[in-house]
Amino acid sequence: MIFSNPSGAPELACDECGCRWFDRMHDCCYECGAKVSPESMAEFRKALETWGQSKASLENQGRSKAAASEPDGAER
Ligand SMILES: [Zn+2]
Repeated sequence: MIFSNPSGAPELACDECGCRWFDRMHDCCYECGAKVSPESMAEFRKALETWGQSKASLENQGRSKAAASEPDGAER
């Protein structure tokens, strides 16, 4: 099960109880101990990658617009 958090980032959630806390050493849920299936992990990684790419392109667009008002630029 994959959720998106408020910032749009994908979050992996337990198929059994829907919680989002996982023991990353063992790939299982902290709440109910359900194993994360390799399919879910693969799907989550893909979602993360897709999100990372769209975020990067968004940030590039934002940067060119915001560049003029950046405090860093004004100080130097
Ligand atoms: Zn669970």
